[in-house]
Amino acid sequence: MLKGKTAVITGGTRGIGFAIAKKYLENGANVAIAGSRQETVDKALSQLTEYSDRVMGICPDLCSPEEVAKAFNDVKERFGSFDILANNAGISSRTPLYDYTLEEFSKILDINLKAVFVCSQAAARLMKEQGGGSIINASSMVSKYGQPSGCAYPATKFAIDGLTTSLARELAKDNIRVNAVAPGVTNTDMVAALPKELVEKISAGIPLKRPGEPDEVADAYLYLASDMSSYVTGIVLRVDGAASN
Ligand code: NAD
Repeated sequence: MLKGKTAVITGGTRGIGFAIAKKYLENGANVAIAGSRQETVDKALSQLTEYSDRVMGICPDLCSPEEVAKAFNDVKERFGSFDILANNAGISSRTPLYDYTLEEFSKILDINLKAVFVCSQAAARLMKEQGGGSIINASSMVSKYGQPSGCAYPATKFAIDGLTTSLARELAKDNIRVNAVAPGVTNTDMVAALPKELVEKISAGIPLKRPGEPDEVADAYLYLASDMSSYVTGIVLRVDGAASN
């Protein structure tokens, strides 16, 4: 489904991001995994050796326009095009408002929102030049329902939905589609870090009665990256088993 296309996946070293990288590779794409540290990028690459001619790692500071532009240009130079950006990197926290520091609030905004702006801008410049592309952002079920603590995280995901809709309208003229995927509870390290009782309680309230798997979320990223969604832009695709809070 993605033969000959080139994709960058931020936070592609583990969890949902790694599942997206694998899915894109299985479907013929060239893939650049963007991680925060060379060590974790190398670890991810060591699990993808069968695709070594089509996969590379990059480690720009995702909030630095200069570093991101350079890394994305390197990707285009290596593979010859730049077609898909999965803005997947994200961090979460459940700190109560009374204990929240401005530093923690800013850190979550930086990775979950500012980095999406920086990466989307750099990607859109390359995509416009070559006649189009697809940008896919990581939203969440909390972009609809909020969450009872850790207010920065849902705030960034509400913002991602707004950024997605707005950029879809702005970039349509350049044949760049912009969509988001909103997973529910998905079995990754992010969820493993939550109290077990909390995950059980949330899972019991999901109509499909289980958390999602990274591979199931990656399927939505594949659809939105491929030509099967060529007339789809500006949507937030929920992959959450119909979870409602
Ligand atoms: P995870 O914690 O397993 O992985 C997050 C990835 O982001 C890691 O690869 C990490 O290295 C990377 N990352 C974090 N900070 C970074 C930085 N500064 N630079 C580069 N990479 C950085 O998380 P996950 O569960 O796979 O989540 C992936 C995305 O999906 C996130 O945006 C998250 O908000 C969203 N999401 C996850 C769930 C879930 O239940 N797991 C639900 C809804 C939305």
